[in-house]
This record gives sequence, structure tokens and C-alpha cells, in this order.
Amino acid sequence: MPPTKPYWLDKLLNFGVSEGSASSLTYQQVVNLTLALLCVTDFMLMLIFSAHGSFLVVAFYFLALILSLSGFYLQSKGLLTFVRVLTPFNIITQIVVSNLLFFGAYSDFHWLLVTISAYAFAGFKPGEKALRYGVIALSILLFIVCELFPAHSAFLSVNEQKVSSVLTFLWTLITIAVVINVVVARLRQANNHLRILAEKDELTGLANRRKILLSAVSIYAEAQQLGKSCVFAILDLDHFKYINDNFGHEAGDVVLSKVASVMHSCLTPGDEIGRYGGEEFVVIMKNTTLKEAEVKMNDLRQSVENAMIVTDKSIVIPVTVSIGLAVISSQTKRYEDVLALADIALYQAKEIGRNRVVSQASTL
Ligand code: GH3
Ligand code: MG
Ligand code: MG
Repeated sequence: MPPTKPYWLDKLLNFGVSEGSASSLTYQQVVNLTLALLCVTDFMLMLIFSAHGSFLVVAFYFLALILSLSGFYLQSKGLLTFVRVLTPFNIITQIVVSNLLFFGAYSDFHWLLVTISAYAFAGFKPGEKALRYGVIALSILLFIVCELFPAHSAFLSVNEQKVSSVLTFLWTLITIAVVINVVVARLRQANNHLRILAEKDELTGLANRRKILLSAVSIYAEAQQLGKSCVFAILDLDHFKYINDNFGHEAGDVVLSKVASVMHSCLTPGDEIGRYGGEEFVVIMKNTTLKEAEVKMNDLRQSVENAMIVTDKSIVIPVTVSIGLAVISSQTKRYEDVLALADIALYQAKEIGRNRVVSQASTL
């Protein structure tokens, strides 16, 4: 899967994050993102007021920048809760002081308080309701204060304040867009991660029963619609109970996992394989005739027989597999019919000695 975010953004989000968090948005990452946006804001304001020649204001934003940078340091040293809780108050203070003392009434700089709502929901935990709604209430209150008591800026002319108003709008928009983008990207990643987990068999790494049967439904429908040949196979390891009983359940697991990988390596792109349950597997071969499937499954059966399955205790366990095949036809109405025919063929393969491929055609 291609990365959803640039490398540097991942590095930034994960600064000081110890646990792997590829697919979830942790509170530490929210703090990192917020601090980064705050640093950029402070730095830009330093540049703007330097150009303006207001060095007292530059000094204020320099101190603010140091404070924001130290937030990175403190949270990476384990003081996450401390930084996480104080960061919105730091932002609120900076916005209100900036509005009342440096920017002036026409700048609308206090509209940046809107960004606090994004932090309130992404940065505070569901149980921290008092903090969440507290910072929102404080933002609203201070917004009203800024509206009711407009400051007469000693630093910016009215025209400069009007330009600031546009810049404030743009920066509020950009900040909220960045936060939403990161949150949504993380949710998609988490969703994908969960979907993969929900479709994978943990032991063998193959598709699980749910996934392979879902594939069966769509492959069956497509083959019937297009009138293409498609073969279903059920593969069952021979005397697997014996392996468990004689070498132990753990060795049995190793066998299952290794045989699964041998079987997977014998398939061609387009074939689907999944663990049907226990020591049974299903293979679906699209655009394949029964004859072609027989050849492929015989090669697979041979590969399993030839495989040197060695357990952790260096014991070599001989394994064989029996395979039943069935092809989609006009007689089959549902994929379950094809699986049932493959199962009958498998039963035959077991009956006549195991370690063989029997196709439904030859059972008729
Ligand atoms: P046959 O050749 O007729 O298929 O005989 P068999 O012994 O393979 O079949 P049987 O159904 O009697 O036994 C299957 C065994 O597979 C029983 C069960 O404990 C074992 N099994 C199922 N799932 C797992 C698993 O995940 N790990 C291990 N180690 N064993 C499993
Ligand atoms: Mg078996
Ligand atoms: Mg079985």
C-alpha cells in the first residue's frame, strides 16, 4: 500500500513516539502536529514583525517559539500529559495577547481561536470532558472579550490590520485543513489495517474463511456472468491429527504455516487461496479449465509431498495433501454448490488412498 503521507510528516508526527503507531493517531502525534503548527506560526510572525521593525513584538514571538520548541522536548521526555494539557492554553494566550496588544481590532486575529476546537477533540481524551469543553468555553469567552474590547494597536496601521484579517482567515483555514487531513488519513490507515486483520488468518498469513468465501461469491458471479471457466479446490492435509498427536500441537502449527506457504508459492497470479478451517484450504482458480486445474493442483500436491517441513526442534515431518476439484457449470446455482462438489471429490481422494487429486468430473 503506498504511503498516505510524506516521509517528513510521518517523522514529525512520530517525534519522540516510542510505540509503533503506524495506523492510529496517538495523543502524542496530535501534540507534535499542534506544536509544529504553533512553531510555524510564531516563526512567521517573527518574520512579519521583523520586516515591520517592531522588535519588541519579535522578542515576544521568539520567546513563544522557544516555549513551543520546549514542548517537543518535554513531551519526548515523557511529560506528555503536561504538554498535552498546557498546549491549548499556550495557544489561547498567544492569540489573545497578539490580538489585544499587537494586531488591533481590525486584524480579526482572535478568529484563530476557532482552531482550539480541533485540538479540544483530537488532543483530549474522551474522559477529559472538563478540559475539552473548558478550553472551548474559554476560547468563546476570550473571543467575546476581544470583540467587546477592541484594542487600538500601536504596532499596525488600520490597513495593515485589514491585511492581517485576510491572513488570519487563510491561516485558520490552513490549520484546520491540515489537522482534518492528518486525522482523516490516520482513520483511513487504521480502517485499512483493521480490514487486513479481519481478512487474514493469523497462523498461515493466508486469507481467512470469511475473506476467501467473500472472494468466492464475487468470482463465482463474475465467471457465471462472463461464461468463463473457474475451478474451486478444497485441500485437506492428510492424517493431520496424527501429526498433532505425535509431534505436538505446536509442531502441527508449524506444519500448517509452512505447508500454507508452499501451497501459496505454487499458485499463479489471479488464483485465490484461503484457510477454510483447521487443516483445510480453498483455492479458487479463475479462467482455468478443469484439466489445467488438475495439472496445477497435482504440481502443488507434489510440492507439499517434497517439502522438507522441519519443526523448531529440527524434526522433519512428512506431509501430504488430498485435493478435491469442481468446476463452475450451468448445473451450479451458487458457489456453495461448487464447493459441495469439490468436497465430494475430496472425500473420494481420501477414500482411495489420500495424497491425490480427484476432480468432480472423474467422480461422475
Ligand atoms: P484426514 O487425512 O482424513 O483428513 O485425517 P486428519 O487427521 O487430517 O483429519 P481430522 O479431521 O481427524 O483431524 C484434523 C486435525 O486438525 C484435528 C485438529 O485438532 C487439527 N487442527 C485443526 N486446526 C488446527 C490448528 O490450527 N493447529 C493445529 N496444530 N491443529 C489443528
Ligand atoms: Mg485432514
Ligand atoms: Mg479436515
